[in-house]
Amino acid sequence: MDDTSIKPYTPLDPDAMYAELETRLEASGRNFDIGRIRAAYNMAKRAHEGQKRKDGSPYVTHCVAAAQIALDMGLDEDSIVGTLLHDIIEDTEFTHDDIAREFGSAVADLVEGVSKLTLVQYTSKEDEQMENMRKMLLAMAKDIRVILIKIADRLHNMRTMAYQSTDKQRLKSLETMEIYAPLAHRLGMQRAKWELEDLALQYLDPEGYREITNTIAEKMPQLEEFMENTKNRIEEVMHAEGIPCTVQHRIKHIYSIYRKMYSQKVDLSGVFDLCAFRVIVDSIPDCYNALGLLHYMFKPVPGRFKDYISTPKPNMYQSVHTTVIGTEGIPFEVQIRTWDMHYTAEYGVAAHWKYKIGDSATGLKSGDEEKFAWIRRLLETQQESDAGDFIHDLKVDMFSDEVFVFSPKGDVINLPSGATPIDFAYSIHSDIGNHMIGAVVNSRIVNLNYVLQNGDVVEIRTSKSAPGPNRDWLNIAKSGSARTKIKQWFKRERRDENIMRGREMLESEFKHNGITLDLLENEAVYSPLLTKLSLQTIDDLYACIGYGGITATRAAHRLRDEAAHLGTSDRKTALDKVNEAAERREQQAKREQHAINGVLVEGIDNCLVKFSRCCMPVPGDPIVGFITRGQGVSIHRKDCRNYLNQSAGDNEARWIKVSWASQITNSYVTTFTIAARDRNGLVMDIATVLNSLNAKVRTLSARTTAPGEALTVVTLEVKNATDLKYIISRIAAIPGVTNVTRAGG
Ligand code: MN
Repeated sequence: MDDTSIKPYTPLDPDAMYAELETRLEASGRNFDIGRIRAAYNMAKRAHEGQKRKDGSPYVTHCVAAAQIALDMGLDEDSIVGTLLHDIIEDTEFTHDDIAREFGSAVADLVEGVSKLTLVQYTSKEDEQMENMRKMLLAMAKDIRVILIKIADRLHNMRTMAYQSTDKQRLKSLETMEIYAPLAHRLGMQRAKWELEDLALQYLDPEGYREITNTIAEKMPQLEEFMENTKNRIEEVMHAEGIPCTVQHRIKHIYSIYRKMYSQKVDLSGVFDLCAFRVIVDSIPDCYNALGLLHYMFKPVPGRFKDYISTPKPNMYQSVHTTVIGTEGIPFEVQIRTWDMHYTAEYGVAAHWKYKIGDSATGLKSGDEEKFAWIRRLLETQQESDAGDFIHDLKVDMFSDEVFVFSPKGDVINLPSGATPIDFAYSIHSDIGNHMIGAVVNSRIVNLNYVLQNGDVVEIRTSKSAPGPNRDWLNIAKSGSARTKIKQWFKRERRDENIMRGREMLESEFKHNGITLDLLENEAVYSPLLTKLSLQTIDDLYACIGYGGITATRAAHRLRDEAAHLGTSDRKTALDKVNEAAERREQQAKREQHAINGVLVEGIDNCLVKFSRCCMPVPGDPIVGFITRGQGVSIHRKDCRNYLNQSAGDNEARWIKVSWASQITNSYVTTFTIAARDRNGLVMDIATVLNSLNAKVRTLSARTTAPGEALTVVTLEVKNATDLKYIISRIAAIPGVTNVTRAGG
């Protein structure tokens, strides 16, 4: 047997093949609407008019051959119609609507599903990638029948692979071995799995394949005799014991022998059990009776007995396996199973249509629901549905909570459904996420909150000067791991900002709940919480709240409880403290009323307050006031050049004490200057950083000063000095930036 030889050119006759299919449809004894199937054949023939297969036959012969396989696999009528039409959306002018109009939307959906799978690009990868690829195909298929049609299609393509180029043979065989055979296995379709594996092996290791087939051919007469004798012996004993059974024998499939040679590192002469027997009985008790008899007749090989009846395989395969030593010391494997288990093992999911497993006629446990629980478990579907329609409605939603996308290199990345480019970036590496500045999906720029779809090709744009994640990302990211990585970044990179934000959050939580802010000044109140969280200082606590390590709500509750606890043990002190605090608040509130533009001017209410243009102070900067002539008080920073120069001169008396109000809601305009080595993209990088920090930029101007040097002046609004300091620190980190200075300093 030499399967790799190319058969002589003999164009097949599609009409004759179709006539044969019709005969077999009628002979199947199932209620097919032959007229409908014939109409599908005619549409496929029209659609593929003029297209040829590599063997020179009209293309439609492939569709008919695949439909025959679908029939053999036991698929339903829609699947057979869909198989006849499976290539027409992909390869011809015909559309989903054309098919839906004539055959209904169910068939059109099947064909469209098959077309989508065809578009998935396969690249050979490591095992984990393969598993993701298989899952992606299942997720994309939505309806299990799409996969079944695809397997029928692939089986016929593999059977006729001899006509393809060597490269294509190899690629398709790899894909078959790594994707389609495992899918068939997962769906419990052993027969299709074996054939796919043997066909693929033939192209992946032609020599290894030939060595095995040649050896088997040589040994065949001897093996045949051995199998015939053994079969007769088993049948005799079973019948004598009153166990009705059918004994089947076969040469093991080539790939399983091949795998054994390689996994056990033996050559073919070391693989003894080339034959396998199957004893099919009527009931489960008979399975175990048969097993007992076999072990009585032949010596069992220790450690080779497996009971998949009491513990079915994940794809619900059931049988008892044992290996025994036959005459002349030849070991052989025996599988013992009921007919029901047999059909399930051979045809898997498809067994439903072919054998109507679960019918009362088979004498099995009643109820499709119960019977098909295994498919449901197999597919992990939670869908409820009527017993009779169960299979028809069977959607592959086992991965509805996952989405599968490609990296530009072709890796399949598995993410929770609803995932965004942010999740994708962090799943590749924290550094990719932390340096992300944008995302491209299927060659189009998308927003970071774009929801990834199965099969998307996702590319992440990064920049060394990227500012790092934005707090909004915590809401956009779907996966816990991405959120954790973002939080880690905040924890590490932005302590100052976290402290500030954490304090703000906690204070607003306090206000919301009517808790006094003084609790935060009482070490006795907060130190137990610090200890509990393994923190050192109150700033650590703010930072922790800031990056999301603990919610402000929880922290506030803990602090309040602690304060209440203290109150009972040391009521007077606590009460005193509350009273004092209330007094302080009242005084402050009084003064606040006179704050103008967020500034309190000592001794003066209601004066005009302006911010100097030379140093542009913002809340948090140490400040001082200057009484101008007729223009009210001008506010300067204490490190302002003008203050430092004039404070001791003639104008000394005009400098007065001012302070920031404790409650400030305004933004303040300020300016800073960036000195940098000039380079392409510098201004762009600055703008990107500012943008990512949500800075309210009013103006940004850049100019070159000396050759190779650039000066950029940024005017923007900020809330306070902490924010400003943070923005400046991020700008200073941009490559090429040599110095960032605030105005007036
Ligand atoms: Mn095809």
